[in-house]
Amino acid sequence: MTNSPFTPGLASGRLSAEDYASNFGDLHDPLDDHEALVAADRCYFCHDAPCMTACPTDIDIPLFIRQIATGTPEAAARTILSQNILGGMCARVCPTETLCEEVCVREVAEGKPVIIGQLQRYATDKLMEAGVHPFTRAATTGKKVAVVGAGPAGLSCAHRLAMKGHDVDLFDARPKGGGLNEYGIAAYKTVNGFAGAEVDWLMQIGGITLHTGKALGKDLTLDALKADYDAVFLGMGLGGVNALRAEGEDKSGVSDAVEFISDLRQSEDLSSLPVGRNVVVIGGGMTAVDAAVQSKLLGAENVTILYRRSRAEMPASRFEQDLAASKGVRLVFNAKPVRVTGNGAAQALEAEYTMSGPDGLKGTGETFTIPADQVLKAIGQTLEGAPDALTIEGGKIAVTGPGRTSMEGVWAGGDCASGGEDLTVTAVAEGRDAAEDIHASLTGA
Ligand SMILES: Cc1cc2nc3c(=O)[nH]c(=O)nc-3n(C[C@H](O)[C@H](O)[C@H](O)COP(=O)(O)OP(=O)(O)OC[C@H]3O[C@@H](n4cnc5c(N)ncnc54)[C@H](O)[C@@H]3O)c2cc1C
Ligand code: SF4
Repeated sequence: MTNSPFTPGLASGRLSAEDYASNFGDLHDPLDDHEALVAADRCYFCHDAPCMTACPTDIDIPLFIRQIATGTPEAAARTILSQNILGGMCARVCPTETLCEEVCVREVAEGKPVIIGQLQRYATDKLMEAGVHPFTRAATTGKKVAVVGAGPAGLSCAHRLAMKGHDVDLFDARPKGGGLNEYGIAAYKTVNGFAGAEVDWLMQIGGITLHTGKALGKDLTLDALKADYDAVFLGMGLGGVNALRAEGEDKSGVSDAVEFISDLRQSEDLSSLPVGRNVVVIGGGMTAVDAAVQSKLLGAENVTILYRRSRAEMPASRFEQDLAASKGVRLVFNAKPVRVTGNGAAQALEAEYTMSGPDGLKGTGETFTIPADQVLKAIGQTLEGAPDALTIEGGKIAVTGPGRTSMEGVWAGGDCASGGEDLTVTAVAEGRDAAEDIHASLTGA
């Protein structure tokens, strides 16, 4: 170890090998059999269960918890996966504290929900570890569907279509499938190459051919896909990033938070990744929290999140905010960046306090400076490369019902499509529902 958290500027190898390993271990230890039974026993198996209504993929939560309680976790996994084929990843990354667990009657009554996410992980891990794929394909229909984007939306759509007997060509611009599961989700939420293993497991259904390094708009055109296939699904996510619109954005040390996380996720050796001594992350969503926490875990001495609105308005959940604070990240609210200063490389960030008024958010004129040799922009992503022929609404591909775009024969879902929250579980639900609609339109079923 040549560097330490106090080494100025951007530097790699700030920590010992043991510290990297323990910092990037699993966020939650998996439940053992006994812990799972105890947790399942807390469920009241509610009729009209509110947890189920809050799940974007409508998993029958009381049923799968009962199946765990009766010692049949593989059956529980089947219940989960029949609604959400990426139930293993969702068990790790869903903000359950604002979905199923928030409305669990035990949370409402006692402030302590049934740990639905961890139970879901227990069940799906059991099945996947056994190497079992619980679904089989229907007889082939002879129909071919092109799916663009192998993220959660595209994978879920492809799997459901393959299960119904259609042949699917799944195209992705990147070298690996998985989308943000592989390149974006925080490393400590999905350890030991789980994202890749889950894609391999999902592909066991058969009938899906993954073509990596194939980008729509570069290697493929929508016209050609429409001519060659019976239907097209677009699940291309949001590939662009918003500009900071602050002076000095071009200085070295200023970069995009998603790119920073992607480099981290793909790194074979975390000690080779440079991180600042003083890191400032700009933004208020999950990406901001993930970038800040991972900078700290890589050995940055000081990490600050700068968010332009109040704590209550922050898109990251209270759990995520507390996670950041527990790792030593400082959260500064009601402040926006003005300029990055430094001679070529970033050295400090000048910021201005903000206040909300009848005309929206305004600077108060009061400024302050934070040392910053690394500035990470986590201020939202934008749609990139969507075909011109499609109607765009609010910066996303406009869809109605189960993902129908303005063009006949073309569906869209996940982050690139209008409606729904930008979450893994929502993308899975939208991919699945579009597949059902494609199936109905191809077969009249
Ligand atoms: C840093 C970060 C952390 C997050 N953490 C969480 C979390 O903890 N929990 C949670 O629920 N959600 C989280 N999210 C949100 C979640 O990852 C997304 O909502 C989800 O991945 C959307 O799935 P998708 O399939 O629509 O898009 P993506 O996952 O973005 O997948 C789109 C795929 O399309 C490919 N593609 C793009 N353009 C083209 C093209 N022109 N041609 C071919 N292929 C193309 C991409 O390479 C990619 O593989 C996070 C997001 C980010 C950025
Ligand atoms: S709301 Fe809570 S107690 Fe009721 S079924 Fe769901 S997990 Fe069980």
